[in-house]
Formats: sequence, C-alpha cells, structure tokens
Amino acid sequence: MIRFILAWLFCVGFGGAAVGQRLVWEHGMTLLKFFDKHHIDPKIYYNLSYQDKELGTEIRAGVPYYVLKDDKNQLLQVLVPVGESVQLRLYKDRSGQYNLDFIPIVYSTTQKALNLRIKRSAYHDLFKATGDAKLAQEFIGVYQKTLNLKRAVIKDDQLSLIYTRKYRLNQPFGYPTIKAAMLQTHRRNHYVFAYKGKYYDALGREVVAFLLETPVHYTRISSHFSSGRMHPILKQIRPHYGVDFAAKKGSLIHAAADGYIVSIGRRGGYGNEIEIEHGQDLRMVYAHMSAFARGLHVHSYVKRGQVIGKVGSTGLSTGPHLHFGVYLNDRPVDPLGCIRTAKNQLSGHEKQLFSQAIKPYLKALEDTTSFEYAQKENTKNTD
Ligand SMILES: [Zn+2]
Repeated sequence: MIRFILAWLFCVGFGGAAVGQRLVWEHGMTLLKFFDKHHIDPKIYYNLSYQDKELGTEIRAGVPYYVLKDDKNQLLQVLVPVGESVQLRLYKDRSGQYNLDFIPIVYSTTQKALNLRIKRSAYHDLFKATGDAKLAQEFIGVYQKTLNLKRAVIKDDQLSLIYTRKYRLNQPFGYPTIKAAMLQTHRRNHYVFAYKGKYYDALGREVVAFLLETPVHYTRISSHFSSGRMHPILKQIRPHYGVDFAAKKGSLIHAAADGYIVSIGRRGGYGNEIEIEHGQDLRMVYAHMSAFARGLHVHSYVKRGQVIGKVGSTGLSTGPHLHFGVYLNDRPVDPLGCIRTAKNQLSGHEKQLFSQAIKPYLKALEDTTSFEYAQKENTKNTD
C-alpha cells in the first residue's frame, strides 16, 4: 500500500488535509459490499441505471484503485478503473452526499518502434528486449492467427513492431496496442496492420483468430457494444462491454466456442453469469441467465454449441436478454465482430482507404529494420 499526501490539491475543496491511498480491489468484492464496508447508503447503487450496474460489475479483482480520505478517515473520493478507458468515481459533494459516475481515465500514449533478430523465440526475445510480458503476449496473439510461430520462425528471423502503450501516473497499464508488425521468416515478410479495430494482412485480408457461434436465437439486439468513448455532445461516458441479445425467457444459451468454465454463479449487476475461457487469450461472459445447465461447474469443459443455460433477467429489472461479452487479453471487444461465417476481405473503396492508412506504417517498419534492438518513442497526451 502506497500512502501519499495530497493536501495541497484538496485543501481548496475540503478545507483540511486529505490522504490518498492506492489499493487493490479485493477478490469477491462487489460495489454493494464496498458501500456496506464504508457505511454508504446502498440507495446510490439501487438507483443506478442497469447499464451502470453492469459497468460496476466489470471491476476486476486485482485492479489497483485510488482512494482519498479526510482526516476523520471518511471517504472523499474513490476512483476504480473499469476497463482501460473509463473509471468509476464515487465522491462526496459539498453537502456531504455521495455521488457515483463514470469518467474517462486520463492517460498518455507512447508510440514505440522496435526491431530485433530472433535468437530463441519471438515471445522470449520480445520479452527480453522490452521487459513487457503483455507486449509479447499480444504479439503472439496477433500472429498465431496467420502463422504457426513454433514451426514457422527460425533463428535469425527478423521482427519489427510499431505499438502504443498507455501510461497512467507514469505506470504502464492495460495491454499494448500493436499498430503494425512485420515478421520476416524464410525471406518472406508477413505483415499485420491494425485497421478500424481489426487486424489485416498487407492484402487487406482480415486476420481472424477464431469464429464464434451466435450464442442464442434472439429477437433483436437491444444494446450494442461500445468501447466507452466520450459522447461528443452529451459529454458522458457509458461503455457497454458486450452485446445484449433480447430473447424469450427460457431460450437456450449455447457456448459460442469450446472452453473451460472459469466462473459460474451470481456476479453483481450481471446476475447469474458464466465465464468461459477459450485458450489463453479469449474469455466469454454470459450474463443475466435464469438457469444454468445441470452439472456445470468451475473447470467444466464445454463444447461449442453445447447448452449452458437459459435466458433470464437476473441482476436487473428490464426484459429478458443475454448479455454476451468477449474479452481478448482482458480487453473487451465487440462480440459481433467475432461472429462470422467467412473471413472478411477489404475491397473497393475500403481497400483503397486501407492501403492509404498502412503506407506510413510500412515506411516506419522499413525504417525500423535498419537498427537492431533499438526502441524509438513518441509520447502524446490523450484523455
Ligand atoms: Zn449488456
């Protein structure tokens, strides 16, 4: 636990010294339990919209969060990250009332370029060069979709990478974003480019890691995925880390991919929920279920298409629906982008736009290959 004094910052607002703490969100802690622990009226929780209750449930155990207390040990402000762009803010206003809202996480983004010759393995050497396990993991995740890295890569193959890393209070957080990469193996260059939230090869063919089945026969989509960008007019942030499929109560829910159940039971605003992990980087969340299929428990292996439960509206009061969330390396992605019947290839005008967009990255990758084990940095502030 790190304690630091922020008196200079807060004496204006509260007239006394305030103490800041960096804490870690405990395993099994929910928003309601947190309110209870700090003697805060649970009405604030019950009055939240169901979207906000869902968002509150997105707080993961182990996430660092920040607390400000006054000299009487009363909470003044709590900031808890929910995903990589938004944080939950609970604060005491001037009249002594607590309020809860969601605000952007302020961070800076640094773009880095890197080139290295592979001595042992792409993962090992990337980690050795950068000390960033998450970067190595993300790189493997991007390439495992096109190449069998274990077989394809040989010693002295070359790897070039352009990526961004987010920093908050000088600490990296979340996962890096790979903008462009080149893997030169057997004298062939394998490119990967990020474009509009997906990865493509140099010919504009989408690089797809997995294809998910639609988990339920739905009547309509009642809420789409949103990554939590600030609404330009309302100045509000309301990400929705999944897609809501409205369906009749009791409709069967099928596993969208093979995997192991890592969590099954009640989870805050998500009500009855099952989490399934497919491989190391993909996690799926099925929420608001009315019932679980018999015999399922943590560590159960489920096959793609297997019935895992029924649609309900547990955890909230609106109509029955399945909230379906998909996380790649803990980062929420749009589930609809993963549900496909065929690979997507860019064509026509979109392909032209893509070719324009990747040009500077191609150039930068070429520049990068002229030096070894080097890193270039370029920081810009974002909010
Ligand atoms: Zn939802």
